[in-house]
Amino acid sequence: MSILVVGSVAFDSVKTPFGEKDHILGGAATYFSVAASFFSDVAIVGVVGDDFGPEQEKVFHQRRIDISGIERIQGQRSFHWRGEYGFDLNVAHTLDTRLNVFADFRPKLTDRLKDSPFIFLANIQPQLQREVRTQMRRPSLVAADTMNYWIENTREELLETLKTVDLLIINDSEARELAGEPNLIRAAKRILEMGPKRLVVKRGEYGAAMFGNGSYFSSPAYPLDDVFDPTGAGDSFAGGFMGYLAAAGRSDEATMRRAMIYGSIMASYNVQEFSCERMLRLTHEEINQRFSDLRAMTHFEDGEAPRRRI
Ligand code: AMP
Repeated sequence: MSILVVGSVAFDSVKTPFGEKDHILGGAATYFSVAASFFSDVAIVGVVGDDFGPEQEKVFHQRRIDISGIERIQGQRSFHWRGEYGFDLNVAHTLDTRLNVFADFRPKLTDRLKDSPFIFLANIQPQLQREVRTQMRRPSLVAADTMNYWIENTREELLETLKTVDLLIINDSEARELAGEPNLIRAAKRILEMGPKRLVVKRGEYGAAMFGNGSYFSSPAYPLDDVFDPTGAGDSFAGGFMGYLAAAGRSDEATMRRAMIYGSIMASYNVQEFSCERMLRLTHEEINQRFSDLRAMTHFEDGEAPRRRI
């Protein structure tokens, strides 16, 4: 089955303790679609300026990602994000966000895109997420992401969007901020009352947790000693997760749990290089290798606690 993603297609300027790059291809929809493309058909709805050229297009064509839904605005620039990471690579410091072409974007979906069964409302203005959501005919699963920028600046809009979403995928500090609750378990309960039936909380190098109505699952992050640039980890996680779900065509508990593992795998490869560079060289054999590694790392045998007589 195919996935439609709406979100930023961007240029990023990123500084990490290991290096710095200016104006590299980024954006939530970019990372998401490249990761999802390993498992499913994926199409993007978004907007770019005339700085988006053949070099950037090639990345999407190489992964057979449908970019017919990306609008181009002549004389304007694409979304630009500038961010920096210190030694705690779990925390991105946003230095500058320029919406540029996204400021006046009004998405108009073609009939074909309106019929996509899976939608991912990637991190972008919540009112834009809703404009795409309301054009969809009968999606079987609607997932969304957001970030502190929108939680703080457009909270009411975001709460409206959340009412129309089945699954929310956000990071732990965003979950606490959205719920106004420092305890993550209580925060998750509150978020599940806002609309989504499931919540996935990404926790950087500590893995990810999935909350449902009465269910809980935790997956580790793949242990790496060479994390280079964490930008896009969350979106490539979501791409692996949704890509696998769409390919499986089911959303039962066992399938959702496996999707968490594919999410972790795609994020783990993504953070090993700048932009989507590592994912663009990735093979299915490498994906399968990390899947069996993660299985082995999390397996433990059944047993009983030894009793000490008192
Ligand atoms: P993440 O997976 O959270 O690391 O997402 C990183 C990507 O999100 C970067 O490539 C940015 O271009 C994009 N991004 C950053 N801030 C925003 C924002 N406010 N709205 C949409 N996209 C953003």
